[in-house]
Amino acid sequence: MSLPFNRLVIASGNAGKIREIQHILAPFDLEILPQSQFNVPECEEPFCTFVENALAKARHASRHSGLPAMADDSGLCVNALQGAPGVLSARYAGKNPPNSLLTQDERNNDKLLQVMSNVSERHAHFYCVLVLVRYPEDPQPLIAEGIWQGQILREYRGDGGFGYDPLFLDLKTDKTVADLPLDIKSRISHRGQALQKLLQKLERLSHESA
Ligand code: IMP
Repeated sequence: MSLPFNRLVIASGNAGKIREIQHILAPFDLEILPQSQFNVPECEEPFCTFVENALAKARHASRHSGLPAMADDSGLCVNALQGAPGVLSARYAGKNPPNSLLTQDERNNDKLLQVMSNVSERHAHFYCVLVLVRYPEDPQPLIAEGIWQGQILREYRGDGGFGYDPLFLDLKTDKTVADLPLDIKSRISHRGQALQKLLQKLERLSHESA
């Protein structure tokens, strides 16, 4: 597949996300550059929808790097919690205090377990929207989304992955995401699905502009 550019900034500081995006895009002739290489300052994410936050992050990274940029805004949405933690997934338990013995992910997971301790309806999904802009004011951002259905466990299982992976049970494999090899997660995850759709849109764009 030929792509319309060969350098792409990833508008994220989340090492887990960047690792997964790099893994999926590895077969392409595309240099993946984390935004940390351009000293991009943290971007505000003030919106209540994933897509608005992703667009803000992609524009911000493109403006600071001068390159095409792609943002991933994603999170966990629990049916019984009316879609929470949703856009607040990364900071569900509040911002980690500097001297905390737990990581931000561990505190978020502990809070989820506690909030759901008396909840028997455990269905949830991961949601991911990817937004790619070729330049900061790109009037036609490319947008693709992915959804991954599962269930929230009552205890941790597995030690791979990041975020809510040890609590999220994939119903098809009966494994938590933390127990799935990266290859399999990349094929079926919300992020993997969104990236496949985005690649198709990029390919179409390359043909149109050829
Ligand atoms: P964002 O950086 O504002 O998009 O927040 C993403 C947050 O959603 C992460 O910090 C995780 O808490 C959660 N999340 C998104 N994707 C995943 C995933 O693949 N596994 C586990 N947690 C995820």
